[in-house]
Amino acid sequence: DAAIVFEHVRKEYPDGTVAVEDLSLEVVEHEILALVGPSGCGKSTTLRMTNRLVEPSGGRILVGDEDVLAADPVRLRRSMGYVIQNVGLFPHRTVAQNVAIVPGLLRWDRQRTKGRVGELLDLVGLPPDRYAKRYPHELSGGEQQRVGVARALATDPPVLLMDEPFGAVDPAGRRRLQAEFWRIQRELGTTVMFVTHDIDEAVRLGDRVAVFSRGGHVEQLADPVEVLAR
Ligand code: ADP
Ligand code: ADP
Repeated sequence: DAAIVFEHVRKEYPDGTVAVEDLSLEVVEHEILALVGPSGCGKSTTLRMTNRLVEPSGGRILVGDEDVLAADPVRLRRSMGYVIQNVGLFPHRTVAQNVAIVPGLLRWDRQRTKGRVGELLDLVGLPPDRYAKRYPHELSGGEQQRVGVARALATDPPVLLMDEPFGAVDPAGRRRLQAEFWRIQRELGTTVMFVTHDIDEAVRLGDRVAVFSRGGHVEQLADPVEVLAR
């Protein structure tokens, strides 16, 4: 089944730039779909239209059964995980407080939140007894990125969107994080769509890879092995 459907989606920015011309694409439930391609080809725009950080100019996007354009944008954003390159952790909040942000907005009770925060920190390899009370500046870049992933997954969203998620992590740390992320995704079954300009990362993490060219055109949509063979 499709978890996300793009039907003839278009994005023209106010200055006239057509970032995405006519995109039709399906993301299958429980898969990791990698969007890869050169800078400026419309990958981020596509990702950000999915949670309406960018307003589509035309077409239709469905997430589950929900029409994204008809949804309340705030609720829509809370219902999906979102991870960006320099995570954007709140510097004056602890690791646990950062992970607890969406549960807090949804008014989960203390017990449930604490249980979930602990679980998530364990899942991303940051044991809560050592990490919960630290502040972001007391963590390495890779550790901060793990907190970003934990925060995005806190309420177990069916869909996770990631924009260059591990781009700022050093190469060795990146490999480890990719492998761990893959294991976490398999455990939770989250549908993931992520953007990268790194073909190696796309092939390593993606169940399928969509190769974009300028204007949000999908040149190829295939298994990683086939993408590598071209
Ligand atoms: P990618 O993620 O593949 O690098 P983007 O989706 O960020 O590509 O950008 C696609 C095109 O849209 C580029 O030409 C970019 O300059 C343009 N673009 C992105 N954001 C804006 C914006 N806010 N206003 C105008 N043009 C934009
Ligand atoms: P507050 O005073 O805002 O509750 P805390 O830092 O104590 O600040 O907690 C923030 C959130 O993180 C709370 O939801 C709390 O349950 C959770 N939390 C704090 N410490 C831990 C921990 N060691 N393990 C799991 N969750 C924690």
